[in-house]
Amino acid sequence: MAQEKDALMERTLDPVDAAGWAELRALAHRMVDGAFYHIVGRREQPVWQKPSDAVRKAIGGEEVPRAGEGAAAAYESFLNNVLPYAIGNTHPRFWGWVMGGGDAVGMMAEMLAAAMNPNVGGFDDSATLVEEQVVRWMAELMGMPAGTSGVLMSGGTMANLVGLNVGRFARSGFDVRGEGMRGGPELRVYCSTETHSWLKKSMELMGMGRSSLHAVGVDAIHRMKIDELKAAIAADRAAGLKPLCAVATAGTVNTGAVDDLTVIADICQAEGMWFHVDGAFGAPAYWSEKLRPIVRGMERADSLAFDLHKWGYMPYDIGCVLVRDAEAHKAAFASGASYLTAMDRGPVADGLRFADRNVELSRGFRALKAWMSLKAHGVDALTALIEQNVEQARYLVQLIEQSDALELAAEAPLNIVCFRYRVANDDENKEILMRLQESGLAVPSGTVISGRFAIRVAHTNHRTRREDFDLLVEAVERIGREVVGR
Ligand SMILES: *Cc1c(COP(=O)(O)O)cnc(C)c1O
Repeated sequence: MAQEKDALMERTLDPVDAAGWAELRALAHRMVDGAFYHIVGRREQPVWQKPSDAVRKAIGGEEVPRAGEGAAAAYESFLNNVLPYAIGNTHPRFWGWVMGGGDAVGMMAEMLAAAMNPNVGGFDDSATLVEEQVVRWMAELMGMPAGTSGVLMSGGTMANLVGLNVGRFARSGFDVRGEGMRGGPELRVYCSTETHSWLKKSMELMGMGRSSLHAVGVDAIHRMKIDELKAAIAADRAAGLKPLCAVATAGTVNTGAVDDLTVIADICQAEGMWFHVDGAFGAPAYWSEKLRPIVRGMERADSLAFDLHKWGYMPYDIGCVLVRDAEAHKAAFASGASYLTAMDRGPVADGLRFADRNVELSRGFRALKAWMSLKAHGVDALTALIEQNVEQARYLVQLIEQSDALELAAEAPLNIVCFRYRVANDDENKEILMRLQESGLAVPSGTVISGRFAIRVAHTNHRTRREDFDLLVEAVERIGREVVGR
């Protein structure tokens, strides 16, 4: 009897009886409806609105909640203070930085993944099968051979870091895992001046230092200068340094430029260097027969990093790294900790394969949203959207070319269009962009190209229609007249 009474008093976060469960389920249905209501009505809402002082106080001024207020009240706070003040990338007129908008199937997959709540370190379970299959599909779609290894990561930064680290392990020529950077000559990494900031961060984190990075200049259309790359490699060799890796970009963050991947692959092959490609947003262009020539050579990468939360249209966060040499991938990260030692049978019989391919041990089931999205929509539909985005970007280029007030700031080979209000200086163009963002009508972002400020549209938005770009151009022309007075 006493035992029975104790059992009744033991706590859990679950509702304690059928009525409690029924109440939570009813609330959950309201939450799902609320999520759909938000997405379906997004076009009618401002793209972005600055969180008000009241909202900042409501979220940021709250004491640690010692006593729970209940799920319904927490949801109420979310509806009032959180949901309306999103950065805005689910909106049809969001083209800032490079962000994808996600989709409703992915949204629901996130909930289902949380319901299963597996730790996807690589146990013998369905989540591992799903992630392995997504990796195989990605390798095939990116033109890489069967047997290519890979792992899903939180994003492009992490995926790039992991790829570069495998390259260092495989091509340093010394025991870099044991000795660190003391084990041999200085290792040199080459990239272009347009390379994303992940690489500097990674050089710092890997203990190689930013000074071991050689940023090669770019040509008129922002691609790595090949002659300069070759000269840098030769000079470093002559100085007793070891050229380790060339990092090429398929879709630079500023202008969408694509380095000459085939030529850089040839150079790496001839030099015994690792060929890493950062295709954070650009890589999925490979899925399209029409666009593939632009990113040709990508498939020769020793390691390829890309996001699925950008041009794969999947909800944050999900990136992927593919590594051609599966053995090297595992050897660069496997740890063999005793508490993870393989058993003959049972769920850990084959070790923890994903833990052996990246920095993290415990990982969520981000593979599910990729698997469900690919199955639900099909790769053909995703590819058609990628092509549509590029056509829409062409349309925006035309609008800018037809406008007396606007001018292109750079070549737009893919889905990034940089432009400015012609008679405005840098500060005035910045002012135009900020007023546009604050108006809630559209959110592009800004960048500096060849020393001059530009308004930048990075288009990975499956909800955009051409009329949205008509609105954008009208708005920039109008705000430009207001700012400059002509
Ligand atoms: C976005 C981006 C990254 C970084 O990816 P995250 O997913 O933001 O970590 C790296 N390189 C390029 C070219 C990018 O566009």
